[in-house]
Amino acid sequence: MPTDLTRNQELVLGTLNHAPAPLSAYDILDLLRSEGLRAPLQVYRALDKLVERGLAHRLESLNAFVACADEHCHRKGLIAFAICEGCGKVDEFADAVIEERLGTWAGTTGFKVERTTMEIRGKCAECLKAA
Ligand SMILES: [Zn+2]
Ligand SMILES: [Zn+2]
Repeated sequence: MPTDLTRNQELVLGTLNHAPAPLSAYDILDLLRSEGLRAPLQVYRALDKLVERGLAHRLESLNAFVACADEHCHRKGLIAFAICEGCGKVDEFADAVIEERLGTWAGTTGFKVERTTMEIRGKCAECLKAA
């Protein structure tokens, strides 16, 4: 964990790090009430900074947050998330081939890509085994 985080950012990131599945801002607030966090705004502010720094990511389709799986991620390019609908586990990965194709597409269409987040829904290998 970076050393220049505020106390709230540290608490929020710590909570995300220990969560087995993505958390909404309200889940985080509930978990941090005992630490003295009271207002959703405190959580939102911390999340904004963490997302901005690439330490956490927002999953749009779930409206929830995960800690970045890679401490040195800070990715500007493509980030993909495989979201298991069985256990709720999220796997973060990057794929150079998809990114390259997207780059080619952007080049030919003249579209300036700011960020790309792929959210892949399905069942993870463990859940499939258990079924
Ligand atoms: Zn990441
Ligand atoms: Zn699963």
